Amino acid sequence: MKFKVLGSSSGFSEIGKNLSSVFVEVEGKCLIFDAGEGLSQRIQEEKLDYDTIDAIFISHYHPDHVTGLFMLIQVLYIQARTKPLHIFLPERVEEFANLLSFFYTFQKRLSFELYFLEMRTINKYYPYVKAFKNDHLLSYRKFVAKEKLPNTLSSYSFKIVEDNKSLIYTSDIQTIRSISEHLSDCVYCITDAFHPHINEIKALEHLVKEQVILTHGSTTGTNKLVKENKKYIYAEENKMYTF
Ligand SMILES: [Zn+2]
Ligand SMILES: [Zn+2]
Repeated sequence: MKFKVLGSSSGFSEIGKNLSSVFVEVEGKCLIFDAGEGLSQRIQEEKLDYDTIDAIFISHYHPDHVTGLFMLIQVLYIQARTKPLHIFLPERVEEFANLLSFFYTFQKRLSFELYFLEMRTINKYYPYVKAFKNDHLLSYRKFVAKEKLPNTLSSYSFKIVEDNKSLIYTSDIQTIRSISEHLSDCVYCITDAFHPHINEIKALEHLVKEQVILTHGSTTGTNKLVKENKKYIYAEENKMYTF
């Protein structure tokens, strides 16, 4: 398996960093997890454009994880991509798909088949990818209830497995409780450095074999942790890992 953090910025859009996205090559497939703004440029830099990517997985609909998707579709259309593209979404799939026509991007005009799919169908297409719901959006419950919104507060973390070894990408999380049962065989864990309490991040030390790669910004707590404990590193956007 190979992976590279394409974007490690927090939701504040930091200068010199790209917004959330991770590239993974597994079982001969090229997968992208999250599509932060600027992804269309990043995939061209990394030569992952044209027909390279097989699927994109969106963890949740915060803008720093999804707004790059529309430009990416436009770039792939202009490049005359031919391979079908699977896009797995966290919630309200049909409504999301309908947004394309809002942007004058018409699926019938595209040179490739675009499939918007529910997260629960991953196993049918990519059985070595597991998505599990995390607790990131639960604090919005009161707003959603008050406004009677259709939002389902769905946010996902991902586990990618090959040869009994796994990579975990937490995306945004509040606590590691929602992912801890999935950490068996975890060699690398790419985790949100910004939202969880520092003790949550510290608890990953003995659950992850090689390294805990911190992304999505930093805090004074994570700065100290990276200095003191070699298990923890900040994501470098140009570093490819192979294991
Ligand atoms: Zn975020
Ligand atoms: Zn978020």
